Amino acid sequence: MLLWFRNDIRINDNPALHYFLERHHGSEVGKAVFFVSEKQWQKHDWSPIKIDFIKRHVNALAQQLLSLNIVLQVEYCDDFTDQVAFLKHYCRQHNIDEVVANKELEVNENLRDKACLEQGLKLRLFESDVIVEKGKVLNKTGDMYKVFTPFKRAWLTYVKQQGFSYLGKPVISKSSQVSSELLTPIICSGESNAWPLVSQVEQQVIPTFFQDKVQCYGQERDFPAIKATSGLSPYLAIGAISPRYLLTLMIQRFPDILLAADSDEFVWLNEIIWREFYRHLMFHQEKLSKHQSFNDKYSATVWPNNPQYFRAWCEGRTGYPLVDAAMAQLNQTGWMHNRLRMVVASFLTKHLLIDWRWGEKYFMEKLIDGDLAANNGGWQWAASTGCDAQPYFRVFNPIRQSERFDPDGEFIRKYLPELADLPSKQIHFPHAYIAKENLDVYWPAIVEHKAARLAAIEFYR
Ligand SMILES: Cc1cc2nc3c(=O)[nH]c(=O)nc-3n(C[C@H](O)[C@H](O)[C@H](O)COP(=O)(O)OP(=O)(O)OC[C@H]3O[C@@H](n4cnc5c(N)ncnc54)[C@H](O)[C@@H]3O)c2cc1C
Repeated sequence: MLLWFRNDIRINDNPALHYFLERHHGSEVGKAVFFVSEKQWQKHDWSPIKIDFIKRHVNALAQQLLSLNIVLQVEYCDDFTDQVAFLKHYCRQHNIDEVVANKELEVNENLRDKACLEQGLKLRLFESDVIVEKGKVLNKTGDMYKVFTPFKRAWLTYVKQQGFSYLGKPVISKSSQVSSELLTPIICSGESNAWPLVSQVEQQVIPTFFQDKVQCYGQERDFPAIKATSGLSPYLAIGAISPRYLLTLMIQRFPDILLAADSDEFVWLNEIIWREFYRHLMFHQEKLSKHQSFNDKYSATVWPNNPQYFRAWCEGRTGYPLVDAAMAQLNQTGWMHNRLRMVVASFLTKHLLIDWRWGEKYFMEKLIDGDLAANNGGWQWAASTGCDAQPYFRVFNPIRQSERFDPDGEFIRKYLPELADLPSKQIHFPHAYIAKENLDVYWPAIVEHKAARLAAIEFYR
């Protein structure tokens, strides 16, 4: 049997690993594989920081697997076609009758798995990326929900009635004799070093978040200058953390959480359910994996797509400080606060009338937590083309958003040091002040908000 790690780089709550260990005979060294497929990752727009983050976690996983008597072999294959060819050859060579892995959500990954079966490989797949199995939360007509709130209600009912299975960490064998000399670590660029490995996150970040922060999440989560959110998205995106593990911890700490939808801590669980919603949606709607509009009436839209506007947005030169500071955060750190993702996505698709797919791709190329389902869901929400999306006539005012969510300009000052000395009242849209004081510190505004808003509504109509 061969264990194939993909988007599930963990030993905790890993159903494929669990199955493998149950059937694997103790004295024999188990075989596992992980493919480094740079060309395939590029095709999927994965960012260098995400790739580095994956590699660091694979190296750590390989060490952990040794104590389970399993050797993780890292194979360098260009793309999915090469992966299938390698597996076919390897299984034949080593007389392996079954490959076990956890399912992936996206369309190309499914085609690759189909190709494995067509090549005669026996592939056994498990579900590891969601709390409730995809396909289990359906409306009365047996379809996927098109609106989040009824999905959430049905999801909660399902979890309360059926429960969910959390497998925990496998028991480490003291008798493991496998030497770490068998491993050749993947060379990492270190780009993601600011993000600790998941083992540290499990010991420190998660307990602190549940102990001190989750209760204030509802009040503070929209303020980018406050570190009020969990910061777990990179770990969830590469499968280093299991969502079932997080729900298990939540229930241990807040036993009534599933019944208390009005509690402070539920606000955070609600976001985990949004994650589930977008994953279930992508499972049912293959077109989302192919970057098509959820709402068909927008599929023929011809976006103006001004390339200069797009470049200015990418480089944080729009002349709207909150937008530019947010893009600086993305470009410098590989992560962006959720409120700001909504603001910049709205700005790109409504103020600048640029196709949401351009923004979706740029995010994937930069984000450490790039995740097709959440990214696609977020972009289509902001662009009003998505499922349960923002109505087309709602256009975020980037100045008002800045005044509300960064009132003293603390976040803006951090990422736009050229504006650091401006008074708080002026910092949200400083152009009149800059002209009056004769300063030469900032870009002119790329578009005028009121005119851009009206043009967007007209365009969408
Ligand atoms: C335009 C746009 C693009 C986005 N792209 C991504 C992406 O590529 N990858 C990604 O993981 N998230 C994406 N999000 C969702 C969200 O912004 C991030 O998950 C969140 O900012 C991560 O920070 P956190 O871990 O501190 O989240 P917390 O606020 O602590 O939330 C906990 C977890 O819930 C999930 N979550 C939170 N908000 C959302 C949401 N709106 N949709 C789906 N899941 C959510 C994440 O897994 C997150 O780690 C996007 C949102 C928008 C508006």
